Formats: sequence, structure tokens, C-alpha cells
Amino acid sequence: MNNEIIFGEKLLNWYDISKPRELPWKLNKNPYQIWLSEIILQQTRVEQGTPYYLKFISRFPTLNELANADDDEVMKLWQGLGYYARARNMLTTARQLRDEYDGIFPANFADIRKLKGIGDYTASAIASFAFDLPYAVLDGNVFRVLSRFYGIETPVDSTEGKKMFQKLATEHLIPERSSDYNQAIMDLGATLCKPQQPRCIDCPLAENCKALQNDSIDRLPLKSKKLIKKSRYFYYFVWKSPEAQTLLKKRVEKDIWKSLYDFPLFEANKLLDKDELSKLWESDTWKNISEQTSLDEFSINFSTTYVQLLTHQKIFAIFVEISGKIPAILNVDKSYNLVELSDLNKFALPKTIQNYLEKDLFPLG
Ligand code: SF4
Repeated sequence: MNNEIIFGEKLLNWYDISKPRELPWKLNKNPYQIWLSEIILQQTRVEQGTPYYLKFISRFPTLNELANADDDEVMKLWQGLGYYARARNMLTTARQLRDEYDGIFPANFADIRKLKGIGDYTASAIASFAFDLPYAVLDGNVFRVLSRFYGIETPVDSTEGKKMFQKLATEHLIPERSSDYNQAIMDLGATLCKPQQPRCIDCPLAENCKALQNDSIDRLPLKSKKLIKKSRYFYYFVWKSPEAQTLLKKRVEKDIWKSLYDFPLFEANKLLDKDELSKLWESDTWKNISEQTSLDEFSINFSTTYVQLLTHQKIFAIFVEISGKIPAILNVDKSYNLVELSDLNKFALPKTIQNYLEKDLFPLG
């Protein structure tokens, strides 16, 4: 028997007996629910994504209900999940499906792949899970299982590696059971062939696994690129007016956290010392105000530094709390929303700001 047959048979046998992860979106073959779960689970662990999936399905049980949703409500429900482009693309796709497909999910790979926010992996997952079409998924779990089972030293993120793994994944797929096969290999990667301390002793593939034989498990899969994180330094101005109001701005630029809300922001290129901080007030961002109002008129308090790691960026956020009347010039600036401090939690906010609200601005107890 060749390796592909051994691999597929052992994998499915293990899956049929152990059913390692009973996930709520696998209870039926509803393409809307499967699509929603796949978008939520991009870059997100199942344990973290499941409560979000349940919240979305309960609030928007059908595709058309999601398509008709208010953008801000969707962003608020998504808050804390990160990678917010997914939520924006999800809304775009829901509306496209409502307007161009009568609210019915297309049942072929090519049309699914054309939808916004859907790459090869997600299209294969929807095609196989919802429609039993023979498309093999290739995600981090699949890369790990295949590279270890075959002892492959080609980096998974190289052009050659991507082609090689796609070919392998496709050859191993059992077309008449594509949905189970895809679920099985991902479940094996998530529960046994984990990045650290895999449970080889329980693995149905152990007997033929090259990485186990060659003691190369810890090195595989190989990656060629090291992710470089750029550091950014955000100084947020949190106004606390005598009327208990503050200013919020919707992020509309092509940047992180688009469509979420944050405070008026000054971005520096490094962490600032005390002297530099006082000069913030005279920076271009605040010139209009500082020409009319001296910083001495306010009581100022600096928060500790909050750090948030994103895939490509490390965000350092310092909250500059300014107690005093909000300068009129900011009140008339249409890009700012005058918001009651007690209403801040009604807005979709980046995690850093949410953490600051909980720890510093409105600490519990
Ligand atoms: S034997 Fe270990 S390394 Fe090999 S596929 Fe199974 S869990 Fe992964």
C-alpha cells in the first residue's frame, strides 16, 4: 500500500472513531453558517472563535439578516476578535450575496472563491463542508501534519513549498469523503500534531511518520521568512470634560482597526520622554488648539504603556487624560464625535482601548 492510501485510511479511521471536535457549525451543512465560522476562524483559535460564532448566529440567524445589519453593530459584535478587515469583508460579501445571488450561497468553487474575503483555503473549506465538493484544504494544521509525516524540509511559505503542499494535499484527499477528510486532517493537527509537544503516542500516523523516525518534529514545518514587527507609538488624548464627555473618532484610513473608534491620536516614532511629551501639544496635530489654549489650563494624567501585538505590528499606547473643557475647535470638527464617557462601551473599540477602559478609566471595584 502506498503512503497516500495508508495516510487517508488511518486518518479517516481515527476520525470516525474519535470524532475529536464536535463543532456547532458542523451540525448541518448550512453554507451560511459554515462560511461565517470559517471567516471567524481565520487567524483565530476555535476556543476563542466559538463564542463569537454563537453570538453572530443568534443575532443574525440568516444571511439576509446579516446583510441588512448596521455596520457599527457588526463591528461591535466583532470587537476583541482582531483582524477587523474580516468583518468588513464579511458584510460586503453578505450584501453581494443578497443582491446578486438572491441570498443563496453559490454551490461551486469558482463562484465561492470570487467572493470578498475568501481565499483558496476558505473556498475549499466551504466547498467541501457545505457541498461535499472534492477540494483539499491547506491551512497551518495541514502544513504541519504533512510536513512532519513526510519529513519535508522545503519551507511552507516558499513558492516551491506552497505548490508542493497543495499537490500533496490534493493527492491525499478522499473525494467521496472530502468533508470528513478535510475535517480529520485539521483536527489531527489541532489536537495531536500540535506545534509544541505533539501527542505522537496517540497518533494514528505514528508508524509511518518520518519526522518521528528522524527526530525532526521540533524543526518542522520549516518557514523561510521571519516575521518582522514594526513598532508604533500611539499617544491618545482622552478628554474628560466637566460634563463627563469625551471625543471619539471613527478610523477611516487604510490602516489597522479601520471602522473601529478611537480617541484623538498623535502617533510618535518612539516612546517620548517628559520634555518631548510637553511638545506634543505644539505638534501639528494640536496646533489649532495650542495656539488658543495653554496646556497649563488642564489637569493632565498619563496612563501606563499598553502593548498590543498584531501580526506585523507592535502597538505601544499611552493615554493622556486631559480634564477640562473640550476646546470649541474640537467640538466643531465634524470628524470627532462628542460622547458621554459612560457610553464609551457602546462603540466598537480596539482591544488596547478596551483594556485601558477596564483597567484605568473605569476600573472595576
Ligand atoms: S506521529 Fe507525531 S509528528 Fe507524526 S504526524 Fe503524528 S503527531 Fe505529528
